[in-house]
Amino acid sequence: MRQPSAGNKARNGLAKKQRVFLFNDEKGVSKVAKTWPEIRELLGGKGAGLFDMTRAGLPVPPGFTISTEVCNEFVKAGNKIPRPAWDQVLAAMKVVEKQTGKKFGGGVKGVRPLLVSVRSGARESMPGMMETVLNVGLNDQTVEEMIAVTGNARFAWDSYRRLLMMFGSTVLGIPDEKFDEPMERMKHERGYKLDTDLTVEDLKELVAIFKQVIKDETGREFPQDVYEQLKECAMAVFRSATGHKARTYAKQMGWKSTLPTAVNVVTMIFGNMGDDSATGVAFTRDPSTGEKKMLGEYLVNAQGEDVVAGIRTPKPIEEMAKEMPKTYKEFVRICNLLEKHYKDMQDVEFTIEQGKLYMLQTRNGKRTAKAAIKIAVDMAKEKLITKEEAVRRVKPADVDFLLHPQFDEQAVKDAKHDGRLLATGVNASPGAASGMLAFDADLAERWGNEGKAVILIRPETKPDDVHGMVAAKGILTARGGATSHAAVVARQFGIPAVCGADALQINLSERTVTSNGHVLREGDWVSIDGGKGEAYVGQLPMVHPSFEEQTDLVTLLKWADEISAKNTRKAEDGKPRRGLQVWANADYPKDAQRARDYGAKGIGLCRTEHMFFEAERLPIVQRMILADNNEARQRALDELLPFQRSDFAGLFRAMTGLPVIIRLIDPPLHEFLPSQEELIREVTRYETKRHYEALGEEEYADYQNKLALLNAVNAMHEQNPMMGLRGIRLGIMIPGLIAMQVRAIFEAACDVKKEGYEPMPEVMIPLTGHVNELKRVQPELEKVAKAVMEEKGVKVKYKFGTMIEIPRAALTADEIATMAEFFSFGTNDLTQMTYGYSRDDAERSFLLKYVEEGILPDNPFQTLDRDGVGQLIKMAVQKGRATRPTLEVGICGEHGGDPRSVAFCYEAGLNYVSCSPFRVPIARLAAAHAALGIATK
Ligand code: ADP
Ligand code: MG
Ligand code: MG
Repeated sequence: MRQPSAGNKARNGLAKKQRVFLFNDEKGVSKVAKTWPEIRELLGGKGAGLFDMTRAGLPVPPGFTISTEVCNEFVKAGNKIPRPAWDQVLAAMKVVEKQTGKKFGGGVKGVRPLLVSVRSGARESMPGMMETVLNVGLNDQTVEEMIAVTGNARFAWDSYRRLLMMFGSTVLGIPDEKFDEPMERMKHERGYKLDTDLTVEDLKELVAIFKQVIKDETGREFPQDVYEQLKECAMAVFRSATGHKARTYAKQMGWKSTLPTAVNVVTMIFGNMGDDSATGVAFTRDPSTGEKKMLGEYLVNAQGEDVVAGIRTPKPIEEMAKEMPKTYKEFVRICNLLEKHYKDMQDVEFTIEQGKLYMLQTRNGKRTAKAAIKIAVDMAKEKLITKEEAVRRVKPADVDFLLHPQFDEQAVKDAKHDGRLLATGVNASPGAASGMLAFDADLAERWGNEGKAVILIRPETKPDDVHGMVAAKGILTARGGATSHAAVVARQFGIPAVCGADALQINLSERTVTSNGHVLREGDWVSIDGGKGEAYVGQLPMVHPSFEEQTDLVTLLKWADEISAKNTRKAEDGKPRRGLQVWANADYPKDAQRARDYGAKGIGLCRTEHMFFEAERLPIVQRMILADNNEARQRALDELLPFQRSDFAGLFRAMTGLPVIIRLIDPPLHEFLPSQEELIREVTRYETKRHYEALGEEEYADYQNKLALLNAVNAMHEQNPMMGLRGIRLGIMIPGLIAMQVRAIFEAACDVKKEGYEPMPEVMIPLTGHVNELKRVQPELEKVAKAVMEEKGVKVKYKFGTMIEIPRAALTADEIATMAEFFSFGTNDLTQMTYGYSRDDAERSFLLKYVEEGILPDNPFQTLDRDGVGQLIKMAVQKGRATRPTLEVGICGEHGGDPRSVAFCYEAGLNYVSCSPFRVPIARLAAAHAALGIATK
């Protein structure tokens, strides 16, 4: 006998490898996949859920999953299901026949034919992206057998016509309208309102019509061989995994490629067998608000797709308590069990066949940002999950979304009063949006790409509309509820949506909508509030929501801070890190107050020069700059001092007990003077005039003034002002200026300390490049500080430090730290100087192209460049701390509010990040995530 070749052996191994798993095949699954993520990877989300529910003893119809591996093999084989896999499917069908006592393809007298659904399901659920075929196994013969066994002809024919529709559209790609139109026509001609009004004879007629549609559209007959039906459905599912819709979705989600899908073959449960049968979907908590209250819908005497597609308007789940009390109780019990088991809000599908409940799907429910936060906090309070888990589950983007603007309440009242309420519907996805009405997805996409604000309005949405939905600012539909396609997609992408606003009479051919006495055309403005389920005519003004009122968010961020404070996780270098504090950049007391309210633990950057620009101060500043002798300059500085002092006092009061970093003057002085161009124009005008006539007294004075200014500006003109006389260099050239600022800081600190506050000033010297600069400036300033404290008889805690924003400072941080007690990375300048980009010029010209074409992975001004700028930061921290172990280190560039950059700052060992007050809540969560080692996308 010939030995099997190596190739044969491999093939035999492949043949033996298990690819098909019955829902109750615990042993088989455990051999291939141990952990829950592995099981999901193998069986897909839907298959894993069905397997897991079966394992937990919940009522799941018998069935099996063809693994995601087969999907990959299918694609590799050029869209063919490999023979060994199909053999396993056939074997699994035999087992299901045994489990159900039914026969696929029928033909056994007195035995009910087995019908199945064929359902897709990848690792991650993709709402509405892939298709399902119900009632597979019906044909001209089994439909009669069904009638014979069940005695319910209406149900059998209804199921058959649905199989034809679903098979026709999903497997054969025939447009839905080809089936919808004849059915609607029949209903219309015979005066029916509901699908359920169709009689047995009507349904039989429809089956004949649909078969003809299939023949006309594809040139072939609907397959009567049930195994051929099954195979074609499975192939259609596998094809859809790499199809257009799946690719678009993957792109939207930022995935590198599409996901392979599994195929689930599930014994059909019939929700359409009469009034003791029903089908429905439910969320175990409200996915919009997060409230702990089941939210669901069901339809009596109907099949699954009817609810999901939002075609008939279903009843709220609470009514089931009255209509089917026993089943309802069982359902609630199962839902509670599922929540406990998955420790998360579940989105379930169920069907009731003649009083008996079956679970058809469970998964972690999609939710709004608001619900995500509430559910996480509630579940931690219920002890279902830990506080840490709650913090893990909420994304910085959720926090960002929650603090986004909403409609001004008074404007809403006025609009209602003026009769501008267009319609109300289901509050399907929260958020406020105004835009121009677009009646189809293509137009919405086009307008969206042109930068227009669009509200997509549709009777209902379908998977083919997704490209327009994501381009829209908001979505408005006339039909469908909280679980309709529009609602699910909108929540997923954080797009405000109002669904099922049934007062809307949408005329797609004329592209108008009529409602509440208004007639609106395409392009007209509407405003929708997806949190309230309201739509208004026109554009309503928006306001920022208050942070303090979001009590769940406040709680969650308190936990986040605790995690950061307690953290000792080791970073990449193997050294433990304390978590990051979040500070804020604020120039005025009211900003500081907001920062504090938002949870900032200090001010990381107060830009003093902003104070110089105010109307009453600018002339004094100009006099100071233009002074041609020391006395005149000192007089101007003395005049400025009280202004600065009172500014600082306000900051210290607002931030009592917390550090306030005040940066000494930074920009080049010409920024405080009028532009050279403007001055030349003015001076030239006076000189021309003077040539012909004498100037008036005032004119002459102004002329002299402008001339002096122009001379000064000319003298100060620089080729590259951002790399010229600014920062500490200015302090060295005009020492009195920063001495005045330091005096103002310490006078203010001493004064407010006397008032009972606890000021903690930290004086920051900008733009140091060489330690000698600090050696020259800092001792002088410290002298001023000590002198003031002595004069006032008060002592305050203080620090002197510097910004690190020039690469040389980072490279010589060990030397710099001999003087500086703290470092603050000014990452805007540091990025400019490390890359050699001028930010304004770069962003205006080449940077976008660089990012689009992947020359740069990100805009380095938005997300810190780890590999380049990041190296400088890490080196500076190390060198600085080697000299001065207590060195306080933070970042005050815009990067401080970017979650990915925050993660880097943690790795680099910074003490805090400082960002705009509005981003403080996001940064607090990002800091906790960094401490927990959660990768931020
Ligand atoms: P989707 O991912 O689009 O929700 P599903 O595969 O879950 O697709 O199925 C679509 C609808 O058909 C759902 O309402 C589901 O509950 C229903 N359904 C699927 N399989 C069966 C079955 N075996 N018996 C009864 N209803 C089913
Ligand atoms: Mg579906
Ligand atoms: Mg489903």
